Amino acid sequence: MEPRIYDTEKYLKNLPLDERSFGARSEELAEVGEKEDPLDTPFQKISYEEVSGSAEVIVGDAKFNISYSDVDPEFYKDIFTQATLDSLAGKIRQLDALSMTSVSDPTVAVEISQLLPTDCKILFYPADKLVKASAIYEKNMVLYIADPFTQKAFPVILHEIGHLIDHSNLRAHGLDKFVTDHEYAPQAEKLRRERFASAYALDKLRPLFRAHLLDKEQIINFLKKYALETYNCSLDHEISFDLDRKSEGTRQARDYNEEMSYLGEQQLHDDFREWQQTDEYKNWKQLPENIDLEDYEAFNYWREITKI
Ligand SMILES: [Zn+2]
Repeated sequence: MEPRIYDTEKYLKNLPLDERSFGARSEELAEVGEKEDPLDTPFQKISYEEVSGSAEVIVGDAKFNISYSDVDPEFYKDIFTQATLDSLAGKIRQLDALSMTSVSDPTVAVEISQLLPTDCKILFYPADKLVKASAIYEKNMVLYIADPFTQKAFPVILHEIGHLIDHSNLRAHGLDKFVTDHEYAPQAEKLRRERFASAYALDKLRPLFRAHLLDKEQIINFLKKYALETYNCSLDHEISFDLDRKSEGTRQARDYNEEMSYLGEQQLHDDFREWQQTDEYKNWKQLPENIDLEDYEAFNYWREITKI
């Protein structure tokens, strides 16, 4: 299948972003690291002193499972400095399973290990709150520096798995970016990658949102800060004033609400396309008053009748 290539200029231009929002959002980003975040609260405190183990916790309608095991330091030694290795290595573990399941309806479940690409590993170091998470392409692994037995682990690890999948899609097409060549292609590509990764995570978490096991708005808020932090930090100096000078109507790719609505819309469209595959849709579309409706009209109708 041909890859979808985005027009870099349009991609960046379609982001109306407000210079003034930057200061406000920077503070929000700073707060992420400082405030006590309920998403960081472990379902159960695990010391991870044992080289392997597992736990199961039920809270309300949600059941959480984790299992982890030892990992050969040979596997990861070249991604850390020696000093880091000395301080971390004794507690680096491999995450073998992490799941959230509805007790009342066990078909509603997200099991992270089932979403991992082939031969991909998740390694973690159980810091008290999220220090860092990354997708390490060369190793086909996700590194998660935080306790993974938390709500936050779900969106973050899935976001990083999204990066791995996106990267292997690029490689499969022999490409290094899914945007057109352009002076600002690196910036557009960075943004596209972050969006892809977050959209992937939200898509996989959708059953948990529907079952109210995770708060959708809270997770979207968090993911936007999480992904845009990387994006903005690396781009501020590169394009902020430059792009504004270049085109009067172009503002920066950093408006938080814009970004949120983009992801929300994208998810809605995905849901809508799913609905279009159902018999319910086919029957509805066959009704005389609906037969000539365009997709966007059907989408508007569907949006009215569904509350996600
Ligand atoms: Zn990312």
